Amino acid sequence: MSEAVIIGSGLGGLLSGALLSRAGYHVTVLEKAAQPGGCLQTFVREGLRFDTGFHSVAGLEEGGPLERIFRPLGLMDLPWEQVEEPDEIVLDGVSHRLSDLSYPLGNALRLSSPDGDVTMDEYLHVMEPFKKGAWRLPAGDLIVRCLAAQINGSLRTDCEVTAIEPGRVLCKDGSSYEGTVISDIHPRNTFALFKGHVRPSYLHRLHALENGPGIFTVYCKLRPETLPYKGWSTVYDGNLMLHYGNPDGKGFARSADLLTFSERQVPDRNALADSLIRRVPGLEPAVEQYWTSTPATWERYTGTPGGTAFGIRKKDATCYVPPRTPVPGLYLTGQNCGLHGVLGVSETALVTCREILGESTLNHILER
Ligand SMILES: Cc1cc2nc3c(=O)[nH]c(=O)nc-3n(C[C@H](O)[C@H](O)[C@H](O)COP(=O)(O)OP(=O)(O)OC[C@H]3O[C@@H](n4cnc5c(N)ncnc54)[C@H](O)[C@@H]3O)c2cc1C
Repeated sequence: MSEAVIIGSGLGGLLSGALLSRAGYHVTVLEKAAQPGGCLQTFVREGLRFDTGFHSVAGLEEGGPLERIFRPLGLMDLPWEQVEEPDEIVLDGVSHRLSDLSYPLGNALRLSSPDGDVTMDEYLHVMEPFKKGAWRLPAGDLIVRCLAAQINGSLRTDCEVTAIEPGRVLCKDGSSYEGTVISDIHPRNTFALFKGHVRPSYLHRLHALENGPGIFTVYCKLRPETLPYKGWSTVYDGNLMLHYGNPDGKGFARSADLLTFSERQVPDRNALADSLIRRVPGLEPAVEQYWTSTPATWERYTGTPGGTAFGIRKKDATCYVPPRTPVPGLYLTGQNCGLHGVLGVSETALVTCREILGESTLNHILER
């Protein structure tokens, strides 16, 4: 039986693992964190479930780009909630529906990031499919559990990969695994672990690629029956995103997440959190308690360099990192190769597995 070793149990790693399992591979997924899922991890505080790097997805309509990947893997059987309204963009206090804005959004909207302003297209190009609808789950880790159950082999947590050799990976606990290697971690981190010769021009290019900014998040517990639950996301003036969560069954939200791009370290987390909460009309009196995470938190948990939220910055085609590397038997997957987000990472997992399995085997697996 062919062996595959996957470094990282983010969506890219798990999807690749599930696809290779279907093709008859024996798969070992190695995850350094205690919980699998990478950006799809969730946590519970005060009885409320918070997603960290997942709020909604697009492309799940019949025949949509994500539906075509998720259906064969059983992910369409998860309890998806279709959001009734498209996402909302608030500019200078005036509300617009995402579906009313024409693409490209270009200079009409700009996101403020610590690296300077960037167009909304650059970071939210993955939002174009959201005009056809958005879907949410009670928790993003349902995707993780569904995919983990399909691994034909094992998923090891608390198992950090510390070295990669041609056809073999070594872990901190002394264990080692042989097979075709897929790395779901940042390409720069992948090659920092690689013990072997790699064309210097390839490494030089990887190092020249810029990473996008990280995200500061405020996870709010709301007082009971204060704010209505809305399934859609609201973006305020291009640099503050709001998602409600934990609907109480009576139409109210029990939690709200606020996200903004930020520096890796935030000197005064509470001051920033308070200022973000005050920017959303009606939110401040409804917040009972909150917790925060910074890009440094992400760097600690997932190893993403500098806490970048979406990995390598996708300015144009020159930023594309192909899944096939110059090292035979070593492939890349995940948000640094193609587009970020659940849709982008899922599409990239197909590209990675197509490189390994070939077009016809992959198509056969997806048709079954
Ligand atoms: C705050 C935030 C909000 C987001 N919201 C959305 C959203 O609403 N919708 C959407 O579609 N997308 C969203 N995204 C983007 C989406 O979550 C990511 O693009 C996607 O989940 C990335 O998956 P990945 O597999 O590429 O990487 P990751 O999820 O980063 O997985 C990489 C894994 O590798 C592990 N790892 C690292 N180093 C090692 C090592 N040496 N050994 C073993 N394991 C290792 C990490 O612990 C991690 O589990 C959001 C992202 C962030 C940060």
